[in-house]
Amino acid sequence: SEKMLEIEDLKTYFHGDDGIVKAVDGVTITVNKGETVGVVGESGCGKSVTSLSAMRLLHDTPGEIAGGSIKFEGKSLLDLSEKEMRQLRGNDMAMIFQEPMTSLNPVYKIGKQLEEAIRLHLKYDKKKARQHAVKMLEMVGLPRAGEIINEYPYQLSGGMRQRVMIAMAMACNPKLLIADEPTTALDVTIQAQILDLMRDLRDKSDTAIMLITHDLGVVAEMCDRVVVMYAGKVVEETDVNTLYENPQHPYTKGLIGSVPKLGQDVEKLDSIRGNVPTPANMPKGCKFAPRCDFAMDVCWKRDPDLLKTDDNHTCRCWLYQDQEKALEV
Ligand code: SF4
Ligand code: MG
Repeated sequence: SEKMLEIEDLKTYFHGDDGIVKAVDGVTITVNKGETVGVVGESGCGKSVTSLSAMRLLHDTPGEIAGGSIKFEGKSLLDLSEKEMRQLRGNDMAMIFQEPMTSLNPVYKIGKQLEEAIRLHLKYDKKKARQHAVKMLEMVGLPRAGEIINEYPYQLSGGMRQRVMIAMAMACNPKLLIADEPTTALDVTIQAQILDLMRDLRDKSDTAIMLITHDLGVVAEMCDRVVVMYAGKVVEETDVNTLYENPQHPYTKGLIGSVPKLGQDVEKLDSIRGNVPTPANMPKGCKFAPRCDFAMDVCWKRDPDLLKTDDNHTCRCWLYQDQEKALEV
């Protein structure tokens, strides 16, 4: 399978008042052509920082890529100029954020912005671009698309603007779509519609999708593979069926404590006690130890590695590794 996005050993650090915060600490994620990879975990686990790093959009954060590599179609993104990067974004690489980072331009009408993106990327003439724009607005569930096209962003509600952003990201048939909580703020019907759209895009255009979400129902419906993140690290990775049928990491088991359905937000699960550690109280060993019912001596002393536990399954947990050897070191 053809690799579209390869994030390898990514380290993104924040320089705060109290020193360095390792928001992303050695994360590796690959997304192949036509594949949807879910990245799941609670807030503060480094999911969004991983996606912002991949799009090289850290400038509004105190973050900085301190190590590792990010490749798109084999090209190193970290070596591109800002201008080259801008050409990739919104073209071959598109993104959808819950709080649109690249918000709509307030001085242009919705239609103009959408049509320009479509003309640029799909090479349609003006008339065809307008028809496509209206179609896209209808597909993301916007009523009176023919009118909205003549309105300015401020005339729309936040939820409507979010859908315009989604239409814009999908209108250009990107090769890679990075979606960070794309539907969280929307109602369930619209949410289902937008997930359908993303599936269509993947099936018709072989788009690779990295889908960052709290929502285990969305993961179950959309993803081929799932990466579970905790405290800036990947703690488990496998295909979606295995994840739900045979989760290995105690954190994943906690997340999947109930049957996933659309709208099942991991933030609201009470199956895991305690909270994600803050940088100030980051445990020395396994970062999950303070919340883990299985924690052993070794867990408090050393952080386990992410190791293969099965074909197509990796897990970062001492329950699956040689503890005695670890304690000798
Ligand atoms: Fe729990 Fe230990 Fe596994 Fe960490 S390494 S998840 S503390 S059992
Ligand atoms: Mg986030």
